[in-house]
Amino acid sequence: MSSQQLITDLKKHFEALKNSIDTCSDIKQLEKIKQEFLGKEGIITINAKKIASFSSEDKKEFGGEINRIKQSAHALVDDALKNFERSSQVETVRPFDVTAYKPEHNFGRLHPYTLVTQDIENIVMSMGFEIVYGNELENEFSNFESLNIPQDHPARETQDTFWVSLPGRVLRSHTTTEQSYALKNKKPPFAIISQGRTYRNEATDASHDFMFAQTDMILVGKQVSLANLKAISLEFFHGIFRRRDLNIRVRPGFFPFVEPGIEFDIQCPFCTHGCSTCKRSGWIELGGAGLIHPNVLTACGVDSNEYQGCAFGFGLTRLVMMKYGIPDIRLLHTNNLSFLEQFCGSPSLR
Ligand SMILES: [Zn+2]
Repeated sequence: MSSQQLITDLKKHFEALKNSIDTCSDIKQLEKIKQEFLGKEGIITINAKKIASFSSEDKKEFGGEINRIKQSAHALVDDALKNFERSSQVETVRPFDVTAYKPEHNFGRLHPYTLVTQDIENIVMSMGFEIVYGNELENEFSNFESLNIPQDHPARETQDTFWVSLPGRVLRSHTTTEQSYALKNKKPPFAIISQGRTYRNEATDASHDFMFAQTDMILVGKQVSLANLKAISLEFFHGIFRRRDLNIRVRPGFFPFVEPGIEFDIQCPFCTHGCSTCKRSGWIELGGAGLIHPNVLTACGVDSNEYQGCAFGFGLTRLVMMKYGIPDIRLLHTNNLSFLEQFCGSPSLR
């Protein structure tokens, strides 16, 4: 066979290679086609060996032509290989479905405790109170003695107080403990509010928990009287319930750290003729108050002849439950999202 005929044959093989590559469906098949044309036993390699039988002039022409066909074939195969690799990468990327369901963003919300606490802080700061938080682990003196609770008082029993293994230390059973620190460390006149978690060793049910929050306020100065107490508590509850028409009433009550002691009720903000919150009475019992007992002032180094103080405290947990109509105290400490999502994210949004 002459070199010209061989070149014509090879060009036909090259056209056939083009068609095979065009219709090739995967990399494996492409490798096979490449071997058949360019491999050690392939068409090009076998035919290239025939160059030896040609004249030197034909060798030159044949050699040049077979190299061009070889390079073109390599280029075709490489292009096809790149295309296969590109399309396999595209397949591994998950297709983007613009119609897919997208859940709503769940923004964090403030806990009802936080909402009411912020309200309280805004109200009392407007009256000039200083806010203190204190420690939840307290010493026995601050929790009891300094508040006129003697050593034989039943509240000290283990069924009421959580005693810890450190000697003389308890989990505070009320936020009133901050009173003694303030009386010892501050010079009258002053007004502070302390609030936070307190602990009592009692069984848990829908309305009792071993951990609950309290708020305590004291005002100490000269000529402090129950009139100051009434004014502060009215301002306070009007702010909390955003109602200026609510009244309070007081009854005599006993608390070791006040004399006289009073219990105060607030007019029910939820009804006009009785509801389940006020037990059909129209009044809600909220907390205890009174003038700070002279023994407490003296124990903390304050001259009780010169200064008087008034104090009032209530269950913050109870107030939160009442304000939002929460029926079970345990809900406040669970991670129940359907409960927590009912409360708006910030006081300014309500
Ligand atoms: Zn009511």
